[in-house]
Amino acid sequence: MIGIPPGLLDRHSLPSPRYTSYPTVMHWGAAPPEPDWLKGLAGVLQQPAARLGLYLHVPFCQSLCTFCGCNMRLARNHALAGPYVTTLLQEFALYRKRLATTRLTLGELHLGGGSPTYLPAEVLDRLLDGILQHCTVAAGADLAIEVDPRNTTREQLQVLRRHGFNALSIGVQDFDARVLEIVNRVQTEGEVRRVVDDARELGFASLSFDLIFGLPLQTTDSLHATFDIVDQLQPDRISFLPYAHVPWIKQSQRRYTEADLPESATRHQLHALGRERMGAAGLLEIGMDQYARPGDPLAQALAAGTLHRNFMGFSASGTGALIGLGVSAIGDSRSAYAQNEKNLQQYESRVLAGNLPLQRGHVPGSEDRRIRELLWNLLTASRTILTADDRMAHWWPETHKALQSLQRDGLVVLAEDSIAVTELGRAFLRHIGMAFDQYLRHTH
Ligand code: SF4
Repeated sequence: MIGIPPGLLDRHSLPSPRYTSYPTVMHWGAAPPEPDWLKGLAGVLQQPAARLGLYLHVPFCQSLCTFCGCNMRLARNHALAGPYVTTLLQEFALYRKRLATTRLTLGELHLGGGSPTYLPAEVLDRLLDGILQHCTVAAGADLAIEVDPRNTTREQLQVLRRHGFNALSIGVQDFDARVLEIVNRVQTEGEVRRVVDDARELGFASLSFDLIFGLPLQTTDSLHATFDIVDQLQPDRISFLPYAHVPWIKQSQRRYTEADLPESATRHQLHALGRERMGAAGLLEIGMDQYARPGDPLAQALAAGTLHRNFMGFSASGTGALIGLGVSAIGDSRSAYAQNEKNLQQYESRVLAGNLPLQRGHVPGSEDRRIRELLWNLLTASRTILTADDRMAHWWPETHKALQSLQRDGLVVLAEDSIAVTELGRAFLRHIGMAFDQYLRHTH
């Protein structure tokens, strides 16, 4: 994996979006009208060989990790699990009825949260039965779930395998007990090892670890020790994510101070150290903080120029449209984005009243769609073609200027009619995205 020259991280240290949509969620407004939203989905599903993506959001967690940026809700016992799954299945029934379809072909099914493993095994089984009995799973489909090692049981993993799940994303974060304690993620190495061993024994094909750098009390020594354990466990993929310190937004981060956080120079060292260790372990950089082994479908899709990008991140299997079920879940019909109610009571009462619980969204105009296409080409295939119309567009001069600056840093190569991302540039995809982002440019 290519090293990052000194100074480059300082020059590109602004917080930057992950571009799972364009424009990003923070720039959305009202939800699209329900008939338009459904018409967009129906249009995609009517296409020959259309494959749908389904995202199921389970918001509950039994404690709050201070680094968490998810839409989650504390739930100390399991009383909410059964009723929530009933509502989520009702929402799915509303979609099937409104789309006048009895069977959907799935290219991707993803359970995220919160902690989907908050659901006891029998409730998880009911949820997956309720979804999959109305779906045909396409060959090569991705069925994946985010799991919290502290509450993942072998029984849950057996339920997932029985329903065809092939990938686990395991919330590891770090292996240092002091670091985990201060961020309120009390979790042992043994808990992670048990999930990894069970998952491998049960036949999950892909194991991914979430790791974070820049956490309070984290040092280069502690991160080396964490990667020593990661090397033993050999995940197929790693998400190596930066910690964001925003105590004015997240009160839980006030349990420590800035003095507990690595300084900027150490943070850069931690980032570099993680990339070095992953490179030495044979992982390749996919981009947007994701790394994968060469034989992994993500790495193969990147090499073949067939990667896809959606709300779950990069994916090797493309789908025509995505429906998000559950509180705060996001969908994409290609002609519109829509997000469900973020408030649990409002989400439930709207579904129980027989309405789709859409709350926010965005209908991309022609400029949005073109910029999204250019950006997606760069994120997924490292290259895009520019047309004469692009170079005449009102947004091009500022974008071109920003890209020239990235070119001077060796992150992109500009030609008259094309843009290419360099190998080093894959470590800075968020910043390349910012060069195109008209919403970010004109709202700051
Ligand atoms: S378990 Fe996951 S979703 Fe829940 S608070 Fe921790 S990081 Fe956030």
